[in-house]
Amino acid sequence: MEALHAFDLRRPASLAEAAAILADEPGARLLAGGTGLLPNLRRGIERPPVLVDLGALPGLDGIEAGPDALVLGAGATLARLAAHPDVARACPAVAQAAAAVAAPAHRSVATLGGNLCLDTRCVYYNQSEWWRAANGYCLKRGGDTCHVAPQGRRCHAAYSGDLAPALLVHDAEADLVSAAGTRRVPLADLFRDDGAAHLTIGPAEILARLRVPAGASARRSAYRKLTARGAIDFPLAGVACAVELDGRGVPSLLRVALTGTDSRPFLLEGTEALVGRAVDEDLLAALGKLVQKQVGPMRTTVTQSNYRRQVAAVTARRLLAELAGARVDRPDPAPGDPR
Ligand code: SF4
Repeated sequence: MEALHAFDLRRPASLAEAAAILADEPGARLLAGGTGLLPNLRRGIERPPVLVDLGALPGLDGIEAGPDALVLGAGATLARLAAHPDVARACPAVAQAAAAVAAPAHRSVATLGGNLCLDTRCVYYNQSEWWRAANGYCLKRGGDTCHVAPQGRRCHAAYSGDLAPALLVHDAEADLVSAAGTRRVPLADLFRDDGAAHLTIGPAEILARLRVPAGASARRSAYRKLTARGAIDFPLAGVACAVELDGRGVPSLLRVALTGTDSRPFLLEGTEALVGRAVDEDLLAALGKLVQKQVGPMRTTVTQSNYRRQVAAVTARRLLAELAGARVDRPDPAPGDPR
């Protein structure tokens, strides 16, 4: 880690003022808890001339359960999300994902917005300046070659935020504020599958709040991730699952979302074909195959890509079996079993 570069620190008193600064200062970066941004600055990965500190903005950290939606301020800390009874009641996966991030000290300052806007990660990118310089930098920043896929012309760095999949399975929407006003988009639209430019948020826009519709609050949900270390680590693969069960315990709705495997978090496609069937080994096998087909981990971590692919599938199977209270003899595939 290196000393921080020189920058201008602004402390706006309102969202409107913050948006105006972004509009006037190309290259300015938002600062909330700083747990994601500051390590990148200390490694010289980014050198923004202006940091806009959102810490003093009133109301940005609200958590409010209304008749139409649970509204989560982007400035709410992960510690509050993990402990808040309304969050646990409406979207348990979100509370679990918040509790799974890093360590208590990080969670006490890290925010929902910061976690959602986390930069993508790669073993060739999250390194010191001298390490990256010695390796000719890379396509994501400073170089012209991707060391993971040298023949290609895109970055495969992995998105590792834990909160996004948990919110995706609850159909969350995001409010983006700029000098031009506020626009509301489905959370999934905030991301694209490009490790060098994975956020669709405009340079002068601020992620202000998330909304979990009341209609999506009746779902059972859970989040789980696999990490190389037992704590304070990013997911090699993270899975959120939400189900609505009918009176027989059969899923009438199933959502699965993933993080850690691709350059964006995403909702698994094709789960509607799995509803209306009892949760048994066949159904879990079908779910596992869907996951294996749709995740695309690349060699961006020290852990093998195929291992991350298999872990994602097994984790999805386990979560669904647990949420449905299903009794299956073999919830996990045996080693070498292609399920
Ligand atoms: Fe760089 Fe390639 Fe890694 Fe992206 S995936 S950060 S371009 S080495």
